[in-house]
Amino acid sequence: MADDLLKFVSIEQKMPSKRAAEERLKDFDEVYAEFDPKGAKEQASRCSQCGVPFCHIHCPLGNNIPDWLRLTAEGRVEEAYDVASSTNNMPEICGRICPQDRLCEGNCVIEKDFNSVTIGSVEKYIGDTAWENGWVKPITPAREREQSIGIIGAGPAGLAAAEELRKHGYQVHIYDRHDRAGGLLIYGIPGFKLEKDVVGRRTGRLEQSGITFHLDFEVGREAGLGELRDKHDALLIATGVYRARGLKVPGVGLSNIREALDYLIASNRKGLGDKVPEFENGTLDAKGKDVVVIGGGDTAMDCVRTAVRQGAKSVKCVYRRDRDNMPGSAREVKNAEEEGVEFVWLAGPEAFVGDDKVEGVRAYKMRLGAPDATGRQTPEPVPGSSFTLDCDLAVLALGFEPEDLPALFGAPELRVTRWGTVTVDHTSMMTNLDGVFAAGDIVRGASLVVWAVRDGRDAAGAIHQYLSEEAKAGADASAAA
Ligand code: FAD
Ligand code: SF4
Ligand code: SF4
Repeated sequence: MADDLLKFVSIEQKMPSKRAAEERLKDFDEVYAEFDPKGAKEQASRCSQCGVPFCHIHCPLGNNIPDWLRLTAEGRVEEAYDVASSTNNMPEICGRICPQDRLCEGNCVIEKDFNSVTIGSVEKYIGDTAWENGWVKPITPAREREQSIGIIGAGPAGLAAAEELRKHGYQVHIYDRHDRAGGLLIYGIPGFKLEKDVVGRRTGRLEQSGITFHLDFEVGREAGLGELRDKHDALLIATGVYRARGLKVPGVGLSNIREALDYLIASNRKGLGDKVPEFENGTLDAKGKDVVVIGGGDTAMDCVRTAVRQGAKSVKCVYRRDRDNMPGSAREVKNAEEEGVEFVWLAGPEAFVGDDKVEGVRAYKMRLGAPDATGRQTPEPVPGSSFTLDCDLAVLALGFEPEDLPALFGAPELRVTRWGTVTVDHTSMMTNLDGVFAAGDIVRGASLVVWAVRDGRDAAGAIHQYLSEEAKAGADASAAA
């Protein structure tokens, strides 16, 4: 075994090749290529097989990373996939879009002197190879159970839960208000980070596994929570968070100031071949425009990088802190800069200017002041520092909050926190309503795909336990009668 491993001293870290920026700008295809078998084997062989693997501890799914790296280094990729998929319902998706620098790779012990093992790219390689070779099969449960579960939301939390529950043989129904399954994997995250057929083959497999998708079905419009509770033995709420955080500055009501998700959904729909009137009439198309995106998270990065691909005249990202203090991943900022995005650090919007449509963003310079309760320095405006940026499309990417679910679902009894996230008991993952569970962003607030998968898996385990106890109680009652 040692022959295939511990090569971090002799083999340098190498990422899969990245397309040149001028090529990337011509389409919405992914930026990184795939490892070839030799490259994957070599990179996996850099792992030192730590006794206490910090990569595994810092992966939200607790992936058995050293095991699948070893199997890949030994050329046993099918077995590597079996190990990888035993803890992760979408390894090739997490391999593409997890912020590895903050999770597994950022905690790899060889990171300090030798650059980490490229864990995410190897995970992507394992998953893609499994699909290419037909190793990913529909689920065939050992036995069918009569109990049915309704899942509201076909994002990563709902999909992971559905897969785990179907493995137990439950009848699983997923309800989603969109016309395609995948949640933000389909309509939020752009194709240059995650191509849509990668998501489609996962949701297609779930359909082939006997899971029923009810698309274009908005809970709160087509049915209330009560009706679904009557229909199913258990329910899982996995609706994500979608209400955009607003900005209270003069001129914010001018036209051509749009929310990030409206902008990204239009672009993703266009890429999927849909007719998108607001894109066709130019409202949500950045072509030829001076675009200003406000915000510094990953959503803002996705917006600026979408705008450059649409052929914007100029694209600026305005963020109130500096590069070192922005929430977006450093890798995405670098990609955006290579693609021609200009970052205006330490700047905050003061007003939008224009008569009817936005024509400019007036901003002031900021400086980082005293730390707040969390230790983060608070940005404060520098007096007399105003400047104006040309703008004929402004995109607000300031984060998301939950919708008012109790009102939307016609279920005022559903308990939520003061931020609107659904309250669950963290051991049972059940809400205050018997048999109603919740998982993903709607519990955590806006987070990451890998955490949604983890929550979906945990919720599936909790639902299985709940239904097993219900079934046992039912059987005991009939035996006693
Ligand atoms: P979602 O993915 O939001 O899915 C919820 C589903 O519920 C949706 O399909 C929605 O249509 C459906 N739904 C909502 N309300 C109803 C209703 N009333 N009736 C029926 N259906 C309903 N994370 C990463 O790890 N890496 C990234 O690179 C990354 N990039 C991102 C980029 C953008 C632009 C955004 C917005 C987020 C990004 N994230 C990223 C975060 C990640 O996408 C989310 O944390 C994750 O998708 C949450 O999963 P979820 O299943 O909880 O919710
Ligand atoms: Fe790393 Fe994400 Fe894969 Fe975990 S799921 S090993 S954090 S890329
Ligand atoms: Fe291998 Fe790095 Fe994980 Fe250690 S921390 S097991 S070297 S990937």
